Amino acid sequence: MSGNQELLRVSTPEVGDRELHYLKEALNRGEISSQGSFVRDFEDRFAKFVGSKFALTTSNGTTALHLALLAAGIKEGDEVIVPSITFIATANAVKYIGAVPVFVDIHDTYWCMDELAISSLITEKTKGIIPVHIYGHPANMDPILKIAKEHNLVVVEDAAEAHGARYRNRIVGNLGHAGIFSFYGNKILTTGEGGILVTDSESIYEKAKLLRDHGADPEKRFWHSVVGYNYRMTNLQAALGMAQMEKFEEFLKKREKISEIYQDLLISEDMISFQEPQNWADSVCWVFTILINCDVIDFRDNLIRHLREKQIETRPIFYPIHKMPPYEGTSSLEHTGFTNSEYVSAHGISLPTSVTMTEDDIRRVSKEVKDYISRL
Ligand SMILES: *Cc1c(COP(=O)(O)O)cnc(C)c1O
Repeated sequence: MSGNQELLRVSTPEVGDRELHYLKEALNRGEISSQGSFVRDFEDRFAKFVGSKFALTTSNGTTALHLALLAAGIKEGDEVIVPSITFIATANAVKYIGAVPVFVDIHDTYWCMDELAISSLITEKTKGIIPVHIYGHPANMDPILKIAKEHNLVVVEDAAEAHGARYRNRIVGNLGHAGIFSFYGNKILTTGEGGILVTDSESIYEKAKLLRDHGADPEKRFWHSVVGYNYRMTNLQAALGMAQMEKFEEFLKKREKISEIYQDLLISEDMISFQEPQNWADSVCWVFTILINCDVIDFRDNLIRHLREKQIETRPIFYPIHKMPPYEGTSSLEHTGFTNSEYVSAHGISLPTSVTMTEDDIRRVSKEVKDYISRL
């Protein structure tokens, strides 16, 4: 039978009638560019959900982060502290400005930036910190915000993977000066491609908005006071976003359930460990990720290959950014090691976590993982 089995994807978007309905509405009105009511509605709705005064949609999460950093005042030559384990876009957005990402190791249990390692990296050039809520688990924000305050640094949260996660009962994304979310096709909430910047700061919002729209003067047509970008979201994307918002609570519940079932099935395996939720965190499950604590050469990669043969798609955890060509040699190894980043990167694997999965699917994945391990 396994030959006919459908491939279980890491993340399949749940899109259907609701999305189609709003898309048709946008098309029928001819509102297909960024000029359209869904864009404003989606911004309002998202701002309410995060509890921020302002929300600005963008073409994707990376452009939202680029704008957030620029609007928060990050400039060429500034240093910005970034975790070594995150998607590359976090560091790239810093690099676009000509600023320097300074990498910090992650915590060994919850895999977000190690807040205790930040202080030793601060120099007179340090101007910002980007905490990343990796896989939906919040970074330890209070100590990070305290250090930032002491050194007058801006904090821009990368919440691209953490829609709805809470830190000490506060929704992440608007705990620092600004925050961003991604709506890429595999994220918790999707618009295909898309992103949003949230903030309570009117000045950050206004600057970001100006830069998003070519730096165009809102009062004087075709007058541009600065070099801006075209980082806008289309009304079609926002139509998808509005439909997704209506299903958001249901998505989160399903993902929590998926995570619970996986944990129940895998917890008895000595070789497997999980991203450990901290008592200050209400995490959301973006992709259910485990560590295979085995040092047999290539074991994790062979497991990935084996699962793929069984029609199960998985993905490794990100590579430490300071090891990849654009950032090699720029790390601050003299200040802090990257033991946890390197370990988690080499041993981590994300399992299928689509809201479209059934309990049987989760059982099938868990069984294949366990069977493979037991053959060792
Ligand atoms: C997905 C992601 C981004 C980038 O979002 P895009 O919408 O793909 O540009 C940034 N940071 C992290 C941590 C992400 O997972």
